[in-house]
Amino acid sequence: MERFLALDIGGTKIAVGRFLRNGKLEDKKIFPTKAERGYKKILDEIVENIKRLKTNDTVALGIGCGGPLDSKEGVILSPPNLPGWDNVPLKKDLESALNIPVFLDNDANTACLGEYYFGAGKGVRNLVYITVSTGIGGGIIIDGKILHGQRDSAGEVGHQTIIPDGPLCNCGNKGCLEALASGTAIAKRAKEAILKGEDTILREWSKEGNISAELVRRAYLQGDKISEKIWKDALEYLGIGVGNIITIISPERVILGGGIMKAGEEVLETVRRVVRERVKLVPIDKVEIVLSKLGEEVGLYGALALALTEMEAR
Ligand SMILES: [Zn+2]
Repeated sequence: MERFLALDIGGTKIAVGRFLRNGKLEDKKIFPTKAERGYKKILDEIVENIKRLKTNDTVALGIGCGGPLDSKEGVILSPPNLPGWDNVPLKKDLESALNIPVFLDNDANTACLGEYYFGAGKGVRNLVYITVSTGIGGGIIIDGKILHGQRDSAGEVGHQTIIPDGPLCNCGNKGCLEALASGTAIAKRAKEAILKGEDTILREWSKEGNISAELVRRAYLQGDKISEKIWKDALEYLGIGVGNIITIISPERVILGGGIMKAGEEVLETVRRVVRERVKLVPIDKVEIVLSKLGEEVGLYGALALALTEMEAR
């Protein structure tokens, strides 16, 4: 049977895997990115590990990597978490080292494809995938194909404005969904509440370490009022954002993934309620809002799904 390679490049770790066409994982290797050493050294370690996994019947390699990038040319364009990767021709470099076709897309798009092929997206042709963790990213599949838009800029679901004069976002805009409902945003609001002298258990907890979104949720579940407000506001904003996307795309399914989904059912309940309240023109009983299925493995399965899609399209 034909085999495929998958490569998931993150700011802290890199994973490579070898799969059978049916999605069975045969072998994998994970190593730290050590981003500060720069492109050339990281590329060398990637090639070394891939060569170890590559068999004679390996057909292609799929890669998911943080953007911005040019998926057609296979070039990475200065991502914030990979310093020194400025206009690096990753696809070309790996094709000449490995002698197989190589395909690249941003990791939100590959995660979306991964769910579509192997996870919560099976059985539909139109879906939106949203990942809520330190940031909020996403991918859109229309008629079975990823929507790339101009210069690979489509699907940035985290950067829709929710509050006109809201907190400043990393992208430069104000009041983006990401600046209101990401794990980072939740933690930031909690820290601000502590600084303002609000009455919250988080003040005590913050002495023992960093405040995270997970800690805010734990405080809320223990009855902390400030944490409850911060947590519930974030879910409400997420619901508004998901509703906006549904109104525009009218997908068959919306898949929610990322770290915040550890709170699973509670997130789903709020998002579904807000969508029911706000989305008026799309038949929402036909839009399923579900949790992602691939969890931590989404990076590798996404890269595999990219390689499969691209080889089928050839
Ligand atoms: Zn933004």
